[in-house]
Amino acid sequence: TTFSDLPLSEPLHRALEEEGYKTPTPIQVQAIPPALEGRDILGIAQTGTGKTAAFALPLLDMIQRDRIARPTHSCRVLVLAPTRELANQIAESFRSYGRHITLKVETVFGGVSVNRQIRAMKGGADVLVATPGRLLDLIDQGAMTLSKVEALVLDEADQMMDMGFIHALRRIVPMLPKKRRTLFFSATMPRAIADLAGQYLTDPVKVSV
Ligand code: AMP
Repeated sequence: TTFSDLPLSEPLHRALEEEGYKTPTPIQVQAIPPALEGRDILGIAQTGTGKTAAFALPLLDMIQRDRIARPTHSCRVLVLAPTRELANQIAESFRSYGRHITLKVETVFGGVSVNRQIRAMKGGADVLVATPGRLLDLIDQGAMTLSKVEALVLDEADQMMDMGFIHALRRIVPMLPKKRRTLFFSATMPRAIADLAGQYLTDPVKVSV
């Protein structure tokens, strides 16, 4: 399989070419086609497998195809990640792959001033990459709403559980529309993570590398 076999829109193919990506990784080959069709994805994959592109590319394709206005105080795609370092890396990946599409990517995480993040979210974002605790702070302050989110990504779900974000997740996910896409990635799949995935995903395609 090559990237040209994957029905991604032209601006994404161009960005991948500029990045020097020649062939999709196994997780990308498995996840991208069903995700492009709007299917939920349950991915078991470690860092280094190319999992970020596996969820970012189909969601950027969605943003590019359905050009609706970005919702104020909200986002079209919400990515939850355990740490600010990972959140920054994911945001950079979306910006890089999305360089030829009209795109606003924001990040929200703890340890820095909340006021700048509140101001940044006023105009909304196409993609918001957030850590669960700080996202809840913004919601509780009335600075954000999740009622317009079209797609949810949970990245490194096992690490989010280990870091005690389960209570935050249990508050956040019910605020999202029931009709949405969900892409769930974890390096390991112990019982507690599988149960969580079972609650949040609808008829998912399972991919693992
Ligand atoms: P990830 O597993 O998402 O953290 O990605 C690991 C690294 O692989 C990142 O530096 C990506 O830029 C790179 N990468 C992802 N997909 C590909 C690909 N298809 N070809 C070459 N490099 C890639």
